[in-house]
Amino acid sequence: MSETKSSDVAGTEAASISETKAAAETPTQQRPPRQQPSQARPNVEAASDGAYYFGSLAVSYDMACSLSSMGYENPSPVQEQCIPTMLAGTDVVGQAMTGTGKTAAFGIPMVERVDMDRQGVQGLVLAPTRELAVQVRDEIAKLSQFKKLRVVACYGGQTITTQITALERGAHIVVGTPGRLLDHLSRRTLSLANVNMVVLDEADEMLDIGFLPDIERILRQTPKARQTSLFSATMHAAMRRIVHRHLQSPEWIRVGGEVETAPKVKQVYFEVWDKDKVKGLSGFLQTQLNGGKALLFRKTQIGVDRLVQSLQRDRIAVEGIHGGMTQSMRSGVMKSFKDGRLKVLVATNVAARGLDIPEVSHVINYDMPQNMEEYIHRIGRTARMEADGTAITFVTEWDMEMLDMIMDTVGDDLERGTLPLYESA
Ligand code: AMP
Repeated sequence: MSETKSSDVAGTEAASISETKAAAETPTQQRPPRQQPSQARPNVEAASDGAYYFGSLAVSYDMACSLSSMGYENPSPVQEQCIPTMLAGTDVVGQAMTGTGKTAAFGIPMVERVDMDRQGVQGLVLAPTRELAVQVRDEIAKLSQFKKLRVVACYGGQTITTQITALERGAHIVVGTPGRLLDHLSRRTLSLANVNMVVLDEADEMLDIGFLPDIERILRQTPKARQTSLFSATMHAAMRRIVHRHLQSPEWIRVGGEVETAPKVKQVYFEVWDKDKVKGLSGFLQTQLNGGKALLFRKTQIGVDRLVQSLQRDRIAVEGIHGGMTQSMRSGVMKSFKDGRLKVLVATNVAARGLDIPEVSHVINYDMPQNMEEYIHRIGRTARMEADGTAITFVTEWDMEMLDMIMDTVGDDLERGTLPLYESA
């Protein structure tokens, strides 16, 4: 697994924009971008042919050093397929969930293909949420730590002037949410005239939020002769239309089936009377978590707040995260969850989408997901890469229809369990 430095994590949480290898930034303090101090290179050895390899894929010496310092020894399946294709300049449609290593799947070729002798932004990544934009920025920053290129994140919820300062210094790669990127384009603080690589990350989520017109306006400002790639967990008809309109003869790369679940997730459902839900959950968390970390999903912001209060009354250390909170509150909560001080986090869908929380042992659908895509996205929060995880779904008397739908799709992978609350009954 990646050997995340605490300074990077702090940077991830707090930084609104930063450039490659941002050192620790605190929420209250947003420093102007500055040159990264030179970093000791790990010892990587060339193969007998003189080249450097990531598994069977040849990479540059700079990239080999970055991958080694991140602890990435072998490419994941999506990386194995995407990296050579994207390095060759071919458009890619990647159907892969978060947790499969898809960020590096497009990040590695993008970093490799940046030409340090050329001016202007060359790579552009569009992401649905500020959290994902920051996360992608950080991953690309780590991947490019020895190439010393500049990557800037532009997203709403942060003062635009900080981003303008960073962009003025010259960015090679920009990662942003569509709204804020359009804002920069209309102010002419960002030019996409030299972009030759575009990635639409979590494209299904961007469509759900209604970003399609914004995405198309942004794409119109990039040169036609560019490489365009799209990543999405699901591939419905609207997505195919975008692919048709904006990609050229793409290679389709699919890791897992349309609604295939992450390999090592144990899926369990508990039937529970609606009136018993809080008590049932509380008992479960107190007896079954075994030192693990749980991420719980609720439908609404108010639902998150209420559940947090009820669990806190039962002396469970829990916090919530949702879009109604300020960025610094969200960052604070995410930080304590990531570094393990906080073991139980209740989130709305939108807040949790795309977050990389590596060691979650339990995902709990306290509220039923609305559809299969949501179910798959949510349970993709656990068992990331090679780790084991359990996805639990609470099913009340009102949720039977959705339970049938999940069962139809995942079949025998979903087991029935009994909550401790009902065990003695
Ligand atoms: P992603 O699907 O991009 O969100 O990545 C999921 C997690 O896998 C992140 O924590 C990455 O740091 C990690 N990761 C990605 N690629 C590799 C790799 N080749 N080896 C080990 N860990 C990886």
